[in-house]
Amino acid sequence: MDPLLNKSHEELREEVRTFAEKEIAPVARELDETSTFSEKLTHRMFDLGLLGINTPEEYGGRGMDTLSYIVTVEELARVDGSQAATVAAHNSLGIAPILNYGTKEQIDTDLPKLIGKRKLWAFGLTEPNAGSDSNNTETVAELKDGNWHINGGKIYITNSASAMSGGITVQAVTDDRGDGRKELSVILVDRENDGYSTEIIDSKMMWRAADTGKIFLNNVTVPEENLLGERGKGSKIMLSTLDGGRLSIAAMGLGLAQGAFEQAMEYAGKRIQFRKPIRSFQANQFKLADMATKIELARNLLYKACWLKDHKQPFGKEAAMAKLYTSEIAREVANDSLQIHGAHGLMKENAIERFYRDQRILEIGEGTSEILRLVIARHHGIR
Ligand SMILES: Cc1cc2nc3c(=O)[nH]c(=O)nc-3n(C[C@H](O)[C@H](O)[C@H](O)COP(=O)(O)OP(=O)(O)OC[C@H]3O[C@@H](n4cnc5c(N)ncnc54)[C@H](O)[C@@H]3O)c2cc1C
Repeated sequence: MDPLLNKSHEELREEVRTFAEKEIAPVARELDETSTFSEKLTHRMFDLGLLGINTPEEYGGRGMDTLSYIVTVEELARVDGSQAATVAAHNSLGIAPILNYGTKEQIDTDLPKLIGKRKLWAFGLTEPNAGSDSNNTETVAELKDGNWHINGGKIYITNSASAMSGGITVQAVTDDRGDGRKELSVILVDRENDGYSTEIIDSKMMWRAADTGKIFLNNVTVPEENLLGERGKGSKIMLSTLDGGRLSIAAMGLGLAQGAFEQAMEYAGKRIQFRKPIRSFQANQFKLADMATKIELARNLLYKACWLKDHKQPFGKEAAMAKLYTSEIAREVANDSLQIHGAHGLMKENAIERFYRDQRILEIGEGTSEILRLVIARHHGIR
């Protein structure tokens, strides 16, 4: 048993693993091939409380800690990255900023909707001209007569375009700071508003069963009280939310690597060449040993970052390191696992083919590896 996990974490792992193996694994390939977001599976994940796993019970969540949440995402990703993405984005990018920065009224109104009414909530930072350079937001929100009038749009947004999506937290330009920089603020925008439209992006190489979309905001009007946190603190709110989000991406990398490793172990044990299982060849033994070591290191790094967060200590540096490291080892492990599968691994009937594609987002979403190296360098005072 991992020294940082307790009995309740292990029980949760067992619960999510059983669900993922019984209900997700049998349909994962078809959902991927048909690029289908499954409302049925999403409802099952709501039934199990996975879409509110660390939200306090008074708001309808399961009230568990960060490690519990991470174990959940890890176990889903061990079987399917798309379902892990749905759960991770809703918890860490949808609910978390409202819980962390919302007024009592916002929390009391929005959280029961996001959990009880089963509305997925999206996080709108990325725009066509604002990716890594997220301060270059072009969406504008103008305050007039007690309402925000919002114009602009967001792209590549998880949980934004399916019928289960309820709305989005957007970063918008609310003024000019006078020093050449934009005043950025964060506003909660419900999908029901006039002028709000979405478009599903379904031509992805990875997470093909997750909902990724574009959002268009055409003179959308919301009350002034929909401002989340302090006006002008948008960048701080969005970037601190990403610290938590990075733990989720790290959990997806860890789970994916674990799944890819187990597939390699199984295949290497049953594939016979030169009258022996290919696992008996030292070249493959070394690959498997390296995979196991990388996974162990990734798990230690990630669980430590979660422990720091659960103990209210700074965790931004460790979250960035965990995201960077797990996403890179997920690529290496998926690649080595596929190599062990030979031609078989290139065929769609084998999950490793999907895992190999799914890992590729992890070095890009929620901070590319290049940006994470900058973040880690800055934590060490390197400028
Ligand atoms: C499936 C999917 C889901 C997503 N979900 C969400 C979501 O829910 N919400 C959301 O807001 N966004 C989401 N994103 C967007 C994601 O966070 C961005 O793609 C990511 O932040 C990188 O931005 P970019 O793709 O525009 O790359 P760019 O910023 O254009 O970067 C291109 C390349 O240049 C490098 N680069 C850029 N600047 C620097 C620099 N200063 N130094 C060194 N290298 C640099 C990058 O590392 C990268 O290699 C999602 C993306 C995908 C694909």
